[in-house]
Amino acid sequence: DAGLPESQRVPAPHRTQNRADERPAGVTEGFANQPDSDPALAANRAWGRDILRRSVSTTLGRDAIAAARIETEAELDAVFTAATAAAERWAALPAAERAAVLHRAGDELAARRGQLIEIMANEAGKTIAEADPEVSEAIDFAHYYAERAKDLEAVTGAEFVPSKVTVVTPPWNFPVAIPAGGVLAGLASGSGVIIKPAKLTQRCGAVMVEALWAAGVPRDLLALVDLASRDLGTRLVASPQVDRVILTGAYETAQLFRSFRADLPLLAETSGKNAIIVTPSADLDLAAADVARSAFGHAGQKCSAASLAILVGSVADSKRFERQLVDAVTSMRVGLPDDPATQMGPIIEPANGKLLTALTTLDKGERWLVEPRKLDDEGKQWTPGVKTGVREGSYFHLTEFFGPVLGIMHAKDLDEAIRLQNAVDYGLTAGLHSLDSAEVATWLDRVEAGNLYVNRGITGAIVQRQPFGGWKRSAVGAGAKAGGPNYLFGLGEWRAAELPA
Ligand code: GLU
Repeated sequence: DAGLPESQRVPAPHRTQNRADERPAGVTEGFANQPDSDPALAANRAWGRDILRRSVSTTLGRDAIAAARIETEAELDAVFTAATAAAERWAALPAAERAAVLHRAGDELAARRGQLIEIMANEAGKTIAEADPEVSEAIDFAHYYAERAKDLEAVTGAEFVPSKVTVVTPPWNFPVAIPAGGVLAGLASGSGVIIKPAKLTQRCGAVMVEALWAAGVPRDLLALVDLASRDLGTRLVASPQVDRVILTGAYETAQLFRSFRADLPLLAETSGKNAIIVTPSADLDLAAADVARSAFGHAGQKCSAASLAILVGSVADSKRFERQLVDAVTSMRVGLPDDPATQMGPIIEPANGKLLTALTTLDKGERWLVEPRKLDDEGKQWTPGVKTGVREGSYFHLTEFFGPVLGIMHAKDLDEAIRLQNAVDYGLTAGLHSLDSAEVATWLDRVEAGNLYVNRGITGAIVQRQPFGGWKRSAVGAGAKAGGPNYLFGLGEWRAAELPA
């Protein structure tokens, strides 16, 4: 058993509690969102400093990932076969028993909050402010899907047939919450699950999986793999033993998976190129802070991040907004993740390709409001960059960069701003800052994106409250949003119930 002895567990920190009367109407019975740790409490700050100190040289997850190494096709096929057999036993359990295991999984994740933050700081360079809510989200997925799985059996006139083998291929940018979401959804639907964490954040995936094993999820039902070759990666997706793949990653990766196997049942949440519109009616103080947070949280490495701010009319002309944004951005503390004061950490790999171009070049009409500076030789630590004068149809307008650089566009009115916002191939998140209800209604009617945010930042979706998923090239083969009431329905097949004789 991979569970840590009680004595080695990091104690749960003091938390702020949701007030019971703040729960929205119509919530899932038996489910409440997990609160994040409250940094206002001195005990939590001390707890956080210890975690960051340990994160520098942590070995968490190392043994689990070493044991997950797969060298040959025969070894991988054996994992599929074992998962198939385990899935048959799992699906045959009463739904309440499966739900109990998933609730325990949520508890085990909660017991490892400190460890999960520790490994995220180490592998992904996350600050506590970014990593802590990610743990809350993972815990939420466990308890939420445990309850929603009951919906599958409540459908009349059709029978849900779970997958046997669901493969989960998560990204490195949310190295705990996204893998946890895929794995827990697969398990809740009655399937066996093979998870291949992203190479750059394998140990984050391993620590998350260890929590689920400790909760009683069998190791053959939930297999962790680290593949020795690209060919094995292809087989992980293309094997006929695989019933379904849950991918979060680039649009191109989804295309690649489809090229391996055209009939692959694929649920993919893919790239984004997201903008926040700011109109003259907006609260500009709030808008500047929200744009900065949405653009530079986790150094811009979120599918949901703001890559563009589109300023309407006098917001563009007066320059007040731009000045406030410059203030917000230049006062952000850039540093290493083990320093508790760091607000923006390094990017995960040295900047290259499209991101390096975005950080180091200006197109026609563009100029830096805040020019990004490289702080290390390697090219992982950058100060945040803001360029203005981004033109319609330009490279910056249409390309996803996934890093700490924001572009500003100008629009004469809301119509033009919405047109610029919708002109991209993707449609993941979108924001509007406006205090004019007619503007808000127009925008909600016409914006083409999955997750819409009015008068707030555009990252940080929350299980049940803001299920997460996109339109256009931000989704491939996906139906329902993750963390929402319909997600599990798309994870198996539906068979019409037999009519009574
Ligand atoms: N769910 C995350 C958010 O709302 C984004 C996930 C992603 O980057 O794929 O910020």
